[in-house]
Amino acid sequence: MSKKFVTAINCMDGRTQEPVVKYLKNKYGCAFIDMITEAGPNKMLAEGKEKAGVLSIKRRVEISVFRHKSQAVAVVGHFNCVRNPTGRDEQKKQTLKAIEEIKKWNFPVKEIIGLWADRKFKIRRINTPTVGAWYVYILESQKKTLYTGITNDIEKRMAAHKNGKGARFTKVFGFEKLLYSEKLDGRVEAMKREAQIKSWPKKKKLALIAGKSV
Ligand SMILES: [Zn+2]
Repeated sequence: MSKKFVTAINCMDGRTQEPVVKYLKNKYGCAFIDMITEAGPNKMLAEGKEKAGVLSIKRRVEISVFRHKSQAVAVVGHFNCVRNPTGRDEQKKQTLKAIEEIKKWNFPVKEIIGLWADRKFKIRRINTPTVGAWYVYILESQKKTLYTGITNDIEKRMAAHKNGKGARFTKVFGFEKLLYSEKLDGRVEAMKREAQIKSWPKKKKLALIAGKSV
């Protein structure tokens, strides 16, 4: 990672500048932060309504990435924002959405992160869900019982189940076949769906597998 520049898309709010610079210098060991400021940029990027504003941010990130060789971009939201007077949870969602939008620009950066400046303007990292598709799956054991699990690699996971390495369940009951899989957006979503399906009676699981709406 370039040791010189990191990019921040920050609110124009003066309270957020120094903490963000300090946090990013410390995290990346970089010398400078290219600070791109707007009023409530996480909201702007998430909503995409202000096209000229979004384009302006994009142009400046482009300079930072291509001219300064910045390899990380941080999107910042903060407490008590005039332009975006929502709480942490809503801004967290907006920031994650903003990260998705920035990814679409296809800039050669290694990392795009979300930050939150809390009421004391202490900077906290917003955890991004594991990138890419995750799957929830239901398999049938040799004893005709069902097992629900998650994975980001179906083939690899099924091979592990077949070899008795996937889970205690298949080690004990054996693997018969994969009955169902469903693609979800990230690990967290997959875990939620897994918990939901696991809570269902077998009949309802079979309905899902059969493609009936449940
Ligand atoms: Zn603000």
